[in-house]
Amino acid sequence: MLQKLNTPRPELPVPVSVLGVRVDRITQQQVLDYIIERIVTQQQSTLLCQQIITVNPEFVMAAQRNSDFLTCINQAALVVPDGIGIVWAARYLGRPTPERVTGVDTVVALARRCAEAGYRLYLLGAAPGVAEIAASRLQELAPGLQIAGTYAGSPAASEEETILERISNARADILLVAYGAPAQDLWIKRNLSRLPVAIAIGVGGTFDFLAGRQQRAPHWMQRAGLEWLYRLYREPWRWRRMLSLPLFVIQVVLKGRKSL
Ligand code: UDP
Repeated sequence: MLQKLNTPRPELPVPVSVLGVRVDRITQQQVLDYIIERIVTQQQSTLLCQQIITVNPEFVMAAQRNSDFLTCINQAALVVPDGIGIVWAARYLGRPTPERVTGVDTVVALARRCAEAGYRLYLLGAAPGVAEIAASRLQELAPGLQIAGTYAGSPAASEEETILERISNARADILLVAYGAPAQDLWIKRNLSRLPVAIAIGVGGTFDFLAGRQQRAPHWMQRAGLEWLYRLYREPWRWRRMLSLPLFVIQVVLKGRKSL
């Protein structure tokens, strides 16, 4: 199960392996700088699209059962520590991450950088109509932001050609994919060589938060690392999925150091 973890970013400290899943020890600022640098390079010479994955404990537990997902995460260009559980595990394992890098905060900060530089975002996924509202919200938060396109679609293989054609026609620089994990990340990985963008990021429920379909936890709860508890309160149907959280903690304590 243990895979050799590559270190695609020599400028970063050695990544931490959380139960065999690579997590890069990176700040949000470094993630944004990497993305912008990548777009600039892409404009000078056509390079393959690069994948960014925002990992939380549910991802790590899913990757224990799904070797394709594990490989997908470990081969991504960047794996960022979303989820307070990952920040805790990294610290517990002696390789702390500088901060938590959440999908939704990163997307907003990225939108602002893109607005300044004139780079274009494409929003793929979520329920029909949600990506459009999320795009308008992003334009409010980042005045001048160019939205290359929005489309709900689905991660089904039968829709892939249509989606790729839409993205191709849209001339986007960055693709945000909201199909939930692992579907969104496996979708990106499968299509990496054909995606005409510099960067593709799986963003989970980010469009739902931006569109106001889901509420984020109050700031004090986010600061206290209790966002997961608020989410459980708002979306109690998640309880089964969230059972993976205590299992994650137990496994990190019992086996974490062996997989470093
Ligand atoms: N989703 C979708 N198509 C699918 C499955 C999911 O568009 O076939 C969307 C869903 O509407 C939601 C997002 O994917 O906007 C997943 O959100 P979730 O909150 O489950 O992701 P998390 O933030 O937990 O990773």
